[in-house]
Amino acid sequence: MLQIDNLTIHEIHDKLQRDEFSATALVKDSLERIEKLDPKIRAFITITEDEALDEARRVDSKIAKKIELKTLEGIPYSAKDVFCTKGIRTTAGSKILENFVPPYDATVIKRMKEAGAILVGKVNCDPFGFGSSTENSGFFTTLNPYDLKRVPGGSSGGSAAAVACGMGLFSIAEDTGGSIRQPSSFCNVSGIKVTYGRVSRFGSIAYGSSLDTVGHIGRSVEDIALILEETAGVDTNDATTVPVDVSSYTERMKESIGSIQIGIPKEYFPKGGIDKEVEATVREAAKTFDEMGCHIEEISLPHTEYAIAAYYLTAISEVSANLSRYDGIRFGYRTKEAKDLKGLYEKTRAEGFEDEVKRRIMLGTYALSAGYYDAYYKKAMQVRTILKREFEEAFKRVDVILAPVAPTPAFKVGEHLNDPLAMWLEDAFTVTLNPTGCPGLAIPAGFSKSGLPIGMQIIGPQFSEDLLFRLGYHFQNATDYHEQRPEIVKQISSS
Ligand code: GLN
Repeated sequence: MLQIDNLTIHEIHDKLQRDEFSATALVKDSLERIEKLDPKIRAFITITEDEALDEARRVDSKIAKKIELKTLEGIPYSAKDVFCTKGIRTTAGSKILENFVPPYDATVIKRMKEAGAILVGKVNCDPFGFGSSTENSGFFTTLNPYDLKRVPGGSSGGSAAAVACGMGLFSIAEDTGGSIRQPSSFCNVSGIKVTYGRVSRFGSIAYGSSLDTVGHIGRSVEDIALILEETAGVDTNDATTVPVDVSSYTERMKESIGSIQIGIPKEYFPKGGIDKEVEATVREAAKTFDEMGCHIEEISLPHTEYAIAAYYLTAISEVSANLSRYDGIRFGYRTKEAKDLKGLYEKTRAEGFEDEVKRRIMLGTYALSAGYYDAYYKKAMQVRTILKREFEEAFKRVDVILAPVAPTPAFKVGEHLNDPLAMWLEDAFTVTLNPTGCPGLAIPAGFSKSGLPIGMQIIGPQFSEDLLFRLGYHFQNATDYHEQRPEIVKQISSS
């Protein structure tokens, strides 16, 4: 294996450019890790070995001619299987799209191609992003590289597990209500949930269109800042992208963090509702920021307890509309036999959708139906406005908010499987950012006594990604949690 476990993408780029190893060797390193580790971890739904090696050869011919490489050129990555990839199967983690091959690339995938990054495969997730553990996937459950009895988080569990194992150096993922941040926290990697409108959603298979955001998971803040520089910005195919300047994140993150005001929301540390080690770890991180010159103060976000209900009502209502397109006619799975058109729709959807998908479509349809709309959907929208105002008020007092990502470290496979509500409650601290549109950065903050990763999130006002990266970058310079690798990775890296 190449000795690249603790190198940033920038450093790897320099080595490629200096011909210390070839792009082919780099891509093969990722593929070899997939071959050795993925039978245990099960992060990949599709491996794009041939395409990846072809691309690597193209990059190598540029190196041989001493042509300057773009920073991401030749860098292997994975993509959550909700992003359309032209000519490459895209399942969204659901049986209903098991054999779907899109005719076009999502904008993020297109931008990665233009930057020269090399896709090594499509990774597992809960179907359409519905879940917090990958256990709802129509194919298999991905396991946590730090403890194979535990989940990697979700819905982007395949992305986080793959990055933790070096099976690709970063992953393009999606966050509708925590799906980038919670798996990053469970797998000791760094993840950015961007401001709504920062990155194009075109070609990202829709979950809840007013909540979906496209973001990134990597091994360090520096790496994900670099990726976001390529993916952020206006796209004419997504009218919700906003023409706010794309900052030079990797330059600006180096600026000083002295005098930044950090708020610690007391509602994110509910008595009896958060694991003691998680609480202690986040409070310790606050101390580290204090020592680096930041000002820490307690704040209050009093409506936090309503966020889960408001989020799930909004999300499932949008699901019931967005998933009407899977009818067995236009694309995806079609039932083998049906008497008439209505029967075809019904059987296709009954056979193709997983239980969690059906649960959400039914609940969402109910929440939007005449007579219940005011009680559920409209109420959720009102709470959404309150949450948004509450964050705006908080950001008049403090620059950013520091909070835990999840109430516990990674839970065991099967632990919440028969209790969907318990699974939804896992998301208490992450779901507030999607209805409010705010960005959040999840980074490693420590480990439990039993060796499980614990993450924290830094939350900022809309379009403050540069500030979040700055704090994360300085924290990672002062600590080495993000440089730790799972035991199974260390075993193969030394071979
Ligand atoms: N657990 C959340 C849900 O199931 C996360 C979804 C997401 O961010 N894709 O809705």
